[in-house]
Amino acid sequence: RDIGTNQSNLAKIKVVVRKRPLNKKELSRKEDDIVTVVDDSYISVHEPKLKVDLTAYEEKHEFRFDAVLDEQVTNDEVYRVTVEPIIPAIFQRTKATCFAYGQTGSGKTFTMQPLPLRAAEDIVRLLHHPTYRNQKFKLWLSFFEIYGGKLYDLLSERRKLCMREDGRQQVCIVGLQEFEVSDVHIVKEYIERGNGTRSTGSTGANEESSRSHAILQLVIKKHNEVKESRRPGEANEPKPGKVVGKISFIDLAGSERGADTTDNDKQTRIEGAEINKSLLALKECIRALDNDQIHIPFRGSKLTEVLRDSFVGNSKTVMISCISPNAGSCEHTLNTLRYADRVK
Ligand code: ADP
Ligand code: MG
Repeated sequence: RDIGTNQSNLAKIKVVVRKRPLNKKELSRKEDDIVTVVDDSYISVHEPKLKVDLTAYEEKHEFRFDAVLDEQVTNDEVYRVTVEPIIPAIFQRTKATCFAYGQTGSGKTFTMQPLPLRAAEDIVRLLHHPTYRNQKFKLWLSFFEIYGGKLYDLLSERRKLCMREDGRQQVCIVGLQEFEVSDVHIVKEYIERGNGTRSTGSTGANEESSRSHAILQLVIKKHNEVKESRRPGEANEPKPGKVVGKISFIDLAGSERGADTTDNDKQTRIEGAEINKSLLALKECIRALDNDQIHIPFRGSKLTEVLRDSFVGNSKTVMISCISPNAGSCEHTLNTLRYADRVK
């Protein structure tokens, strides 16, 4: 089955929706599945409503996207539809970004987690291809999170990081650890290690990680110069490589967290406001990209500032909107689909 593999593969922005199956809890509560994937690009939501005389009825909402994936679709198929088509472009100066958007529990981490490994496999295969074999390209990986507007290295004991911009509008995250990927198997370890390090407060892992954006980057660099060592007998130091292209995988904070702006707890309110701001700024940046606007409003949030260099020049964006099918999530599901609809 070929899902969404038409010419929109080459588009600058692709919006994909993924519906997860009802989970055990929802099944045991006999919740209705209110989301229907009509075909590869068409989805409808049947919102349960009551008339004034208390008779029940459904309001139907319909949406169209580049691709819509139902609960039968595997993570491998998700990869084929979303990331696989843009891999060759990152060997040609493209900066690609793949987002997972949606409420907590809608399947963002489930969807995102395997993608960097699959991407690294394909990238390493291309690195060995005759076209690139002699180019001295290397693959690097880093993994960090944005929590409450601050950056933390997920592969370095959650060390606090800061961001700097050089004169050429290149974003630099000072102190961020980058690891060379020479063996693809290590990528899975990094993913698991990083996800395990995501902010876990006293309230429990999922609760806290839903308030952070996790960003895993795969960067291809060209290494062709060696700095001559001053002292005899000492190894020559490789110069930092020049970025050829990159792909960022972003597991966004739970979209419902942006509404935590009236919570009793001050910290929660501050975090909610930051999440709200970053998700709005992200939408504005993607829309500006889509309209080929010269001015991209990346200054709107830490998230978009960090992604600044991915919003200029050759860029590709894939938005994967994850939705829960149960009636109880109807409002969040509609919010997610409307957000995705406005990005498009
Ligand atoms: P989020 O990161 O958006 O909070 P998770 O990825 O943690 O959500 O998913 C919530 C739960 O649902 C997890 O137990 C996950 O394994 C399960 N799940 C999510 N998407 C799917 C899917 N497409 N198929 C099967 N199980 C899924
Ligand atoms: Mg998650």
